[in-house]
Amino acid sequence: MPRCSICRQVKDEIATCKECGQKFCRDCGNYNKGYCDDCKEYEKDDEEKTEEDKEVAHEVQEIEQEDIEAKGD
Ligand SMILES: [Zn+2]
Ligand SMILES: [Zn+2]
Repeated sequence: MPRCSICRQVKDEIATCKECGQKFCRDCGNYNKGYCDDCKEYEKDDEEKTEEDKEVAHEVQEIEQEDIEAKGD
């Protein structure tokens, strides 16, 4: 089951934020538009990504992977 990166709850439905790439549930962001709570203000054309944005998304993914390995889930 997917886990929300913001509230850390396991949820049936998880979306991936278009801005930062972290996974979030309906309680933790704008699920329909695809932005987490942290990025709600970035609701805009997602073609406007900068190199810096991509780097942040990559770092978030690495952290998630380490988290999974540590828990041995
Ligand atoms: Zn959540
Ligand atoms: Zn986000």
